[in-house]
Amino acid sequence: MKQTITGILQKEDLSKDDIITLLMASYDESKLLFAKSEEIRLKHVGNKVYLRGLIELSNICGKDCLYCGIRKSNKKISRYNLTDEEVLKSVKYAYKNNYASLVIQSGELENKAFAERLNNLLIRIKELTKGEMHITLSCGEHSEETYLKWGNNSANRYLLRIESSNKELYNKIHPNNKKHNFEKRLEALKVLKKTGYQTGTGIMIGLPFQTIENLADDLLFMKEIDIDMVGMGPYIEQEDTPLYNLKNTLKTIEERFFLTLKMIAVLRILMKDINIAATTALEAIENKGREKAVKAGANVIMPNITPAIYRENYMIYENKPLPSSSEILVPDENLNKIGYKVGYGEFGDSTHFSKRFQK
Ligand code: SAM
Repeated sequence: MKQTITGILQKEDLSKDDIITLLMASYDESKLLFAKSEEIRLKHVGNKVYLRGLIELSNICGKDCLYCGIRKSNKKISRYNLTDEEVLKSVKYAYKNNYASLVIQSGELENKAFAERLNNLLIRIKELTKGEMHITLSCGEHSEETYLKWGNNSANRYLLRIESSNKELYNKIHPNNKKHNFEKRLEALKVLKKTGYQTGTGIMIGLPFQTIENLADDLLFMKEIDIDMVGMGPYIEQEDTPLYNLKNTLKTIEERFFLTLKMIAVLRILMKDINIAATTALEAIENKGREKAVKAGANVIMPNITPAIYRENYMIYENKPLPSSSEILVPDENLNKIGYKVGYGEFGDSTHFSKRFQK
């Protein structure tokens, strides 16, 4: 007999069927789910939301992911590579505004020149901020040696989305070649954990071909690999990508938004003390989308501090929020209204990670 949402929410351990039922909750039923995830979140990670200033270092990418606007074959965007000075200017902004953490994200270039460049940049950031900034990298798959080198130069977190933990689905949304290999990506995640990074992963929600079972498996995958942080968001079609042809098969954008909130809530119930990001893609769909994600269980926000002139060239999906000036929106007031506050000056490291290391 199918369990009720109330019954499932009282359980200690959730089965795959339970997770599926929660992910299929109606709008009314979801209120119970969100109340539970908020209770767990407040108990285990408190009411703070931590900031990570997001710097989109470069949109030059060696990969050709079938969903992504900065894929190598997209000739419609102009490619950029921030200069070190531009990066450092953004870092200064974050430092001055008490962010305490940065995310450096970039297209994927698995080569020596990129590894060296980022290494030198990390050294300069460390000097500039007297080592008082925690740094997350999100720059794709690299060798263990490169990860170690970056780690020695002050990068302490790494976000590498698996995109989908289902190999078959992964293969449908990526070209079929060595550069886009599911096992290689999995291995990179394992290496990141082994080398001592606070390790994050994530997936896209509402992809073509994706089923609710796939999403339940994604959550169980995150639990199984004992991840420290998660950044997952709705898939948003981009017209210059091959997957755009399948846009008529997608759930509505509102359904993808709602499903993402439920994914965050269930993940918070499954993994009580990890860091979960309220991703920008949510804001692309709904004004105050990130605040809703915070209510559902997210505890990290990543304001974009990339110099404004480059932001239109990092259009990984449609309607990505593009402030016209260099104005950076931290939703302090909105968060206060719903009982949360920004943890200015705090690293907000993953509690899960700290506990993992005490063991
Ligand atoms: N390539 C780097 C890596 O994988 O570490 C990071 C840059 S990549 C542009 C950042 C993330 O954007 C991807 O991992 C993917 O999940 C997300 N993304 C790309 N295209 C998207 C789309 N159309 N809708 C939603 N998210 C998308």
